[in-house]
Amino acid sequence: MGGSEQGDVGAFGPAYASAGDTGFAARYSARCHCGAVRYEVRADPVDAKICHCRDCQVLHGAPMQWAAIFHKRDVRLTAGLDCLRFYASGPGRAERTLPCKVSCGRCGTPIADEGRRMWLAFPALFDFGRPRRIPAAFRPTCHIFYGLRAMDVDDGLPKWAGHRGRSTLL
Ligand SMILES: [Zn+2]
Ligand SMILES: [Zn+2]
Repeated sequence: MGGSEQGDVGAFGPAYASAGDTGFAARYSARCHCGAVRYEVRADPVDAKICHCRDCQVLHGAPMQWAAIFHKRDVRLTAGLDCLRFYASGPGRAERTLPCKVSCGRCGTPIADEGRRMWLAFPALFDFGRPRRIPAAFRPTCHIFYGLRAMDVDDGLPKWAGHRGRSTLL
């Protein structure tokens, strides 16, 4: 790892923790399937949720999306800045216009949803040890856009038809 590479990953954005910050105490690490893109977080997520909206279904090729929300200041990219692909799903353009999707351009793994202020991480990418134990802070607190679900989930969590707090509870 040369100094220039460190500088490159620091160029991910000023809202994020710097790759060169020696005071950064990583709490969790995440990586895409091929390992080209890696990042760390130094805090527990502020919330976690499951989204059943059609955009998430299509963009993930999955029945639902599991996201854990972090402040950008608690996130730092450690590898793969050059591999990142951005897609703004609102306008449907391959560009880093927030909010946007972030994925690995090499293996295609969805990395996160980059919001204007927050980083919506996909916990499936996190290393939770062997055997894998998912920390309580990553457990979803609700389901959103459950009205568009591809399948029922019987877990006792609140289920909103659309956005949390701005739609009906199902
Ligand atoms: Zn990858
Ligand atoms: Zn969604």
